[in-house]
Amino acid sequence: MGMRMKAFFGKNIALRREIMINDHLLARGIRDQAVLKAMREVPREAFVAAGMEELAYEDHPLPIGEGQTISQPYMVAYMAESLELSPADRVLEIGTGSGYAAAVLSRIVDTVRTVERIAVLVENARKRLEMLGYTNVHVLEGDGTLGWPEHAPYDAIVVTAGAPDLPRPLLMQLSVGGRLVIPVGATPYLQMLVRVRRVGEGEYRSEDLFPVRFVPLIGAAGWRESHEAG
Ligand code: SAH
Repeated sequence: MGMRMKAFFGKNIALRREIMINDHLLARGIRDQAVLKAMREVPREAFVAAGMEELAYEDHPLPIGEGQTISQPYMVAYMAESLELSPADRVLEIGTGSGYAAAVLSRIVDTVRTVERIAVLVENARKRLEMLGYTNVHVLEGDGTLGWPEHAPYDAIVVTAGAPDLPRPLLMQLSVGGRLVIPVGATPYLQMLVRVRRVGEGEYRSEDLFPVRFVPLIGAAGWRESHEAG
C-alpha cells in the first residue's frame, strides 16, 4: 500500500467498519441480517475511550475505564444473533458498560433496557446514547443480577459479564419462549457462554455455546465485590 493509500485508509472509518463486517462477522459465521445491519449502523468509535478510535474496528475488547471493557465486535454480534430477536421483542441487557451493545440491540428491536452497577459508566453511557440519538435505550443504575422487575417479562435477556451461576431473578423475568444468553463460569474471568430457553412456566432448557472471557458479574446473584479487578 502506498503512502497516499495508507493515509486514506487510516481516516476511512466507513471502510474499516465494512472490513469488520466482512472479516470478523461474516467470515466467522454471523448470518442474521438484522444483526449485520445494526453492526453497520452503530459507530463503535463513539463508544471507545478518547484516543482509541483508531482501534475501534479491530476485533478486540477495549478498556472503557473503571476496570471494565467494551466487548469485541464479534462477541456483540454473536450474542445478539444468539438471542434470536424479532422487532417486537422486549430486551434486557445486564452490563451497559459503554452502551455499545445496547445501541446495536436498539437497531434490531423497538425497546432496549439495560442495567449497569457503576455510576460513572451509567452517566457516560446515557450521555453518549442521547447524543447519538438512541432514544429507545433506557439505562438503569443498579444491580443487574436482580434484573429490572418493573418491566418484566422479557423475550430476551443478555448478560455481558461472567456469572457464577444462572441468576434466579433473570430466569424468573424471562417470558415463556424467552432466551437468556449469559457467560457462566466457576472462576470470575473464564466462562461458558450459555443460552437458556424458558420452554414452559417452570421449564428451562440450557445449551452451551462456547468458552468466553468476560469481566465478572458482581451483585447479589453474582460474584462478590472482592472479585473485582484493579
Ligand atoms: N455491554 C458492554 C460491555 C460491558 S462489560 C458494552 O457494550 O460496552 C461488563 C459490564 O458489566 C461492566 O460495565 C460492569 O460494570 C457491568 N456489571 C458487572 N456486574 C454488574 C451487575 N451486577 N449489574 C449491572 N452491571 C454489572
